[in-house]
Amino acid sequence: MIDPFGRRISYLRVSVTDRCDFRCVYCMAEHMNFLPRAELLSLEELERLCNAFIAKGVKRLRITGGEPLVRRSVMWLFERLGHRLSDGLEELTLTTNGSQLARFADPLFAAGVRRVNVSLDTLDPHKFREITRWGKHSRVLGGIEAAQAAGLSVKLNTVALRDINEAEIPDMIEWAHARGMDMTLIETMPLGDIDNRMAFYLPLSILRARLAQRYTLEETQHHTGGPARYFHVAETGGRLGFITPLTHNFCETCNRVRVTCTGRMYMCLGQEDSADLRAPLRASSENALLNTAIENAIIRKPKGHDFIIDRRQTPPALRRHMSLTGG
Ligand code: SAM
Repeated sequence: MIDPFGRRISYLRVSVTDRCDFRCVYCMAEHMNFLPRAELLSLEELERLCNAFIAKGVKRLRITGGEPLVRRSVMWLFERLGHRLSDGLEELTLTTNGSQLARFADPLFAAGVRRVNVSLDTLDPHKFREITRWGKHSRVLGGIEAAQAAGLSVKLNTVALRDINEAEIPDMIEWAHARGMDMTLIETMPLGDIDNRMAFYLPLSILRARLAQRYTLEETQHHTGGPARYFHVAETGGRLGFITPLTHNFCETCNRVRVTCTGRMYMCLGQEDSADLRAPLRASSENALLNTAIENAIIRKPKGHDFIIDRRQTPPALRRHMSLTGG
């Protein structure tokens, strides 16, 4: 799959549910309305969809959500997709909030997963409660330990939040690196209608300049297939990534598309255009219609997003929440 700008699409992110057991303040409202279950693709349909993308050249598959590990029987999907690892697929990964990892770390490893991204925005249990509203810090830390014990390589994803976790970012970097984990900092993106998002927005250009006064940040060529730019931190010996959709967009190297749990394909996280894959998937047990729908969508992949966060910007850039399209 090659888009009109010559970018080869080899990375698919699939959101298997829009539901989550946390309610992070920058992500969704506390009383969020989720999709009726009847609208979701079945696990069998999700598998078929993933296989269609693998046949079209997808090499990396990331399962996300919502919280992917709260979807009932989701391990079945991991096991099935794990069979593709020696057959077209090079990597099967997961983005999770860690709440269910203690239970699922071993089965994930057994299915062929080797890397997981765990989202963690603070080391302070009280602050964690404030940010996630419903999350339990000790469960996530237990999940991270279980993942490492199972042999999974863990990367921490931390959304940089003004006045909330900005002062503890150095402690988090040192904590992660001391435990052999890479860490990636993410800018808050204007996705979904959230009260007062602007209050959380911390440009990573500012944070990086501050970190550079404290640490020696050496540029690296390290790439995981995602959008982060990585630096080696000389003082800790670990890697620190920056995902900066707002201060520096990285669209020119975008190799990704996303599919939601209802089978809607988004060619860009930051644009509204999408394609329905559920109808062609259900119309026939052959993949011809589905393949045509995917091909027609790829040729509409936009050059880039145009996120802006700005004080005057009520409504958000996009009404869609990150929990629907998947992080
Ligand atoms: N539940 C899983 C998790 O917590 O990693 C996967 C889905 S979650 C939507 C993926 C990532 O998106 C998390 O790291 C979360 O912090 C981040 N996220 C959610 N809303 C965001 C927003 N508006 N801007 C930036 N990151 C966001």
